[in-house]
Amino acid sequence: MPEIIRLNNQSIIRGENRLINFHIARLPTHTYIDLPVHVIRGKEDGPVLLLMAGLHGDEINGIETIRRMIFDEAIKLKRGTVIAIPIVNVYGFLQTSRDLPDGKDLNRCFPGNQNGSLASRVAWFVMHEIIPQIDLGIDYHTGAVNRTNFPQVRCKTDNATNLELAHAFSAPFILNAEFRDKSIRKEAAKKGKPIIVYEGGEAQRLDETAIIEGIQGTYRVMQHLNMIDDTIKGHPSKLLKQSTWIRAKTGGIYRNFTEAGSFVQKNQVLGVVTDPYGQDEIPVHSRVEGFAIGVNFQSVLNAGDPVVHIGME
Ligand SMILES: [Zn+2]
Repeated sequence: MPEIIRLNNQSIIRGENRLINFHIARLPTHTYIDLPVHVIRGKEDGPVLLLMAGLHGDEINGIETIRRMIFDEAIKLKRGTVIAIPIVNVYGFLQTSRDLPDGKDLNRCFPGNQNGSLASRVAWFVMHEIIPQIDLGIDYHTGAVNRTNFPQVRCKTDNATNLELAHAFSAPFILNAEFRDKSIRKEAAKKGKPIIVYEGGEAQRLDETAIIEGIQGTYRVMQHLNMIDDTIKGHPSKLLKQSTWIRAKTGGIYRNFTEAGSFVQKNQVLGVVTDPYGQDEIPVHSRVEGFAIGVNFQSVLNAGDPVVHIGME
C-alpha cells in the first residue's frame, strides 16, 4: 500500500478519510454530475480494497450497504485502505434505470473509451482512475425488478484467490460465474485485480437481509485481509458449480410457491401458471435438484419467462 494515494489531484495520507468528488460529465442541462468516492485509510500498511455499487443504477441494496458501512458504522480500519464508490452509475440511479441514458449496460462497456459513448466514458474513468489504485474489490449487485437473488457471492471458483475471498465473505451461497465479455470483473482480472460480485435482493427495493449479509460479509473479507481486528463469525457457504433457470412453459398469472434460498427437489412444483379467463392451472416443475438462489415475483408471465434460478452443488 502506498504512503500516499493520489486521486483527482488530491493526496490522501495514511490514517486519513476523504470524500473526493469527480466531475465525470454533464447532464444535457450542463449541470455537472459528481461521482463521489470515499477513501478511508488505516494507519498501517495493508491492501487497497474497492467497494463499488450501483453499477446498475436501479440496484439499491449495494448502495445502502456501502452507505451504512461508512456513515452508520464508520469503518475503523487498522490496516490498508478502502476506496468506496456507492453509486458508479449516477445517471442510471437518477432515472431508476439499470442502464445509462445511452441505453447501454455499463457492465458490458469495460474497459471503456475516453471519447466513446457515455457508458464507455464512465467505464474508462473507473479503469483509469480507480482500478490502478486497488488490489482487489467487491462489486454489489441485485436481481432484476421483481426478481430476487438470495444472498450469494459470484466469482470464478477455479481461481484460488477468488474462491478464498468468496469463502471469507461467507454468504449463504457461492456460485461459479464465468467472466462476461466487457465486464469490470473480466477487465480488472486482466490487470491482476480480483473482483468478486455480491448479489442480494432485487432491483428498486431495499432488502434488509441482503444488506446485513452484505455488510457482514464485507467485514469478514476485511478481517480475512487483516484490515480490521473485529471477528464476525459466518457460516460456511454452499459452493454451487453451476445454475439454471426454470422457465414457464406457458404465459398467464403466476403464483410462486418457492422460497428463496430453499432446497428444491427434482420435479418439485415451483409455482403454477393459471389462465386468467378459465380454469387452466399449469404447474411449473423443476427439472433439477438444487437451491433456489433466485426467485421471480412477477405475477404476469409470458411463455419462456424465468421463474426460479436453481444452483447445483
Ligand atoms: Zn447488477
